[in-house]
Amino acid sequence: MSAAPERRIANAALELASRQDLLRLQTRRLSAQARRCYERIPFYRKRWPQAAANITSYEQFRDVVPFTSKPDFLGSEEQMYADRLARPGSRPYALHLTSGTTGLGQEVHPLTRFDQEGSASTWVYQARWAGLELGDSVFYTFPVGMQTGGLWSSHASDRMASMGFHMGPYSTERKVDYMLRFRPHGLIASPAYLTQLQAVLERRGVDPRVELPNLKAIFIAGESYTLDWAARSLAFWDANISEWYGCMQGGLNQAISCEHGVAPGGRRGVLHSMEHRMLCEVLNPDTNEPVLPGEEGELVISALYREAFPVIRFRTGDRVRFLGASCPCGRPFAGIEAGTVARYDDMMKIRGQNLWPEAVDRIVFAHGDIEEYAGTVSIEAGRESIMIAVEFRPQSGLSAEEQTRRAQELTGTIQAKLNLRMDVRPAAYLSLPRYEFKVRRWTDARRTGRDVIRYVKPT
Ligand SMILES: [Zn+2]
Repeated sequence: MSAAPERRIANAALELASRQDLLRLQTRRLSAQARRCYERIPFYRKRWPQAAANITSYEQFRDVVPFTSKPDFLGSEEQMYADRLARPGSRPYALHLTSGTTGLGQEVHPLTRFDQEGSASTWVYQARWAGLELGDSVFYTFPVGMQTGGLWSSHASDRMASMGFHMGPYSTERKVDYMLRFRPHGLIASPAYLTQLQAVLERRGVDPRVELPNLKAIFIAGESYTLDWAARSLAFWDANISEWYGCMQGGLNQAISCEHGVAPGGRRGVLHSMEHRMLCEVLNPDTNEPVLPGEEGELVISALYREAFPVIRFRTGDRVRFLGASCPCGRPFAGIEAGTVARYDDMMKIRGQNLWPEAVDRIVFAHGDIEEYAGTVSIEAGRESIMIAVEFRPQSGLSAEEQTRRAQELTGTIQAKLNLRMDVRPAAYLSLPRYEFKVRRWTDARRTGRDVIRYVKPT
């Protein structure tokens, strides 16, 4: 990719505004939203002091408005309609559900027609910044169910007047067949699934530069990835790679790549927060104070552009690195680092030590020959033990003995870098699970159910 990509503006009034002007707009919306929530939503009215209806600055907002978190949004549908729906004037048009992968239960969030439109329209910024034009065709690989990720995709393609290919239900081989036949301009996939698509194309001897000549941009979300992965994917696909961060509770792609993409100049890119629609606080989980640019913290969001049930000061449980408004594109939005969003509750405590899955990803995927891995933590003979199965790419041409030797070397590297013994062994090609959306490479077999550890300071 070129070092200084052409700047593509989707909304000049906003993108060329000063940061001060953007923050003024944000504060105006924050103040109106807080008042509206207090006046119209029983859930907030029961929990907030009356001062919340009259805030005029972020500082006041922080002082008076308490946090919310997932357990606040669980409960029956009757409760949701009674407590968490703004009235008058919010006729639900859709319901979105969380995936339930945390084991805590599924949240149900109502959306009005306005909410649906607001959710889809942030896609216009991202698509434009990544190089798509109105009418371009886009392949959506996410499964469509009751979750925001899939449901959003059909509205997004309507909003772009684009030809949307909704590939979720088809097998990977079939998706690739259609991709080669219809030659899309855009492709949407999780990083792990993009790797899987790449593996299928490589097996078939397909060079995307020749056989997918229209492909301008690939959009990824849902998991962290290494810079090595980004470099390999950019080289293979020869298209801009653009990431978004969104959570179902926020209801939109709330932080997105600009034309600089995910790895400009081989470094981590910026995901610009959509601050005109969302207040994105990045807070130190121990002190709840905002972190400084460059520091990590928990993302806490308040929806400013949502009608039916705006989440306010919602603790996402996502660990992000805050970057401030530092991108060379010059847009006024502050951002978070691309490729490194992680869940605090993905952190595992093993032998008294904190282990983040990305720390293992970084070491394992630094080996270009490894396509996928799976880790298991279990108790063996009263001791916690970690097993990692790795799959080598068939193209690597490694013999069984060489694979075993590489695996042993990895055991040594992991021990040296993470100070944890992990027994790495080769696995047969395609024997490990693949993921289309939410990646779960780790199984904690020490107990049934997930061991949820929140707000533990990263080490
Ligand atoms: Zn930028």
